[in-house]
Amino acid sequence: MLAPTTFFHDKVVLVTGSSDGIGRAAVVMFASAGARVTVTGRSAEKLAITKQQCIAAGAKEEQILEIGGDVTDKNFIERLVNETVGKFGRLDVLVNNAGAKTFDFSGKKGIEIPIDNFDSTMDLNVRSVILISQLAIPHLEKTKGAIVNVSSIVAFPFVIAQPYYPLSKSCLDQLTVQMAGTLIRKGIRVNSVNPGAIRTNFSHAAGMAEETAKKFYDSLDESLPSGKCGTPEDIAKIIFFLTDRTQSEIIIGQRIAADGGTVLFNQGLSAGV
Ligand code: NDP
Repeated sequence: MLAPTTFFHDKVVLVTGSSDGIGRAAVVMFASAGARVTVTGRSAEKLAITKQQCIAAGAKEEQILEIGGDVTDKNFIERLVNETVGKFGRLDVLVNNAGAKTFDFSGKKGIEIPIDNFDSTMDLNVRSVILISQLAIPHLEKTKGAIVNVSSIVAFPFVIAQPYYPLSKSCLDQLTVQMAGTLIRKGIRVNSVNPGAIRTNFSHAAGMAEETAKKFYDSLDESLPSGKCGTPEDIAKIIFFLTDRTQSEIIIGQRIAADGGTVLFNQGLSAGV
């Protein structure tokens, strides 16, 4: 947990994909710092757990708005933003965190993977971010707010068997830069955090059996330069920092890799180490 800050007291924070993983850890952190929060995702069951965790962290029931739905659905996104501003009267922070690797089971590799997989991946990881940000901008302009996009280190050049997920995150990074450059003129700061391997439900949600996913993260604990995978709270702390104007006002349009040294060693900087 970070040192106490009063910045988020009564601020309004919307975190997409906050029914699980990184988004859940972030929204609980904001709620515990006094923010009014919107928790959202598709699973009502998981949303209820997030809400309980916010309350256990000190939030009051009336500080939390819970809205279930799919961020690739434009009507739902409109509801999400309108109901957040309708209930709380303002919006200070948008965290575009909802995302996934849509696993393709065709057995093909690289760009021979069917284009439907590209479309659904881009829809979730990029298009929905543009749409929700468009709706949030007028509200964030009034509060001189902040946006954090949750990208990935796979946005940096890597060769991966299923390329559309990294492609979508590279696109998201470019989007962060474009958003940051135009929106700072309205007083809105935009940055991204690019996690490496973080122990969440991510691989299971992408189609990996739960036990296999656990073994996968265990093996990464041994091979990562830092000697362990990150936790959702590791990333939540960075999101928290990047959206707290009193801590990070000068940071605009940056991608913060948070990966236990993975990229450093994959860029050939480590020869002989
Ligand atoms: P999780 O699977 O634990 O959480 C993903 C969250 O996104 C859930 O709350 C899920 O909610 C929500 N979500 C997924 N699809 C949709 C949708 N169509 N509509 C609404 N909500 C949706 O994964 P992480 O917490 O790990 O992932 C969070 C972000 O971090 C993603 O953008 C991911 O790409 C990124 N990331 C993760 C890494 C990792 O190693 N874990 C590494 C690098 C980046 P629900 O299931 O209820 O719909």
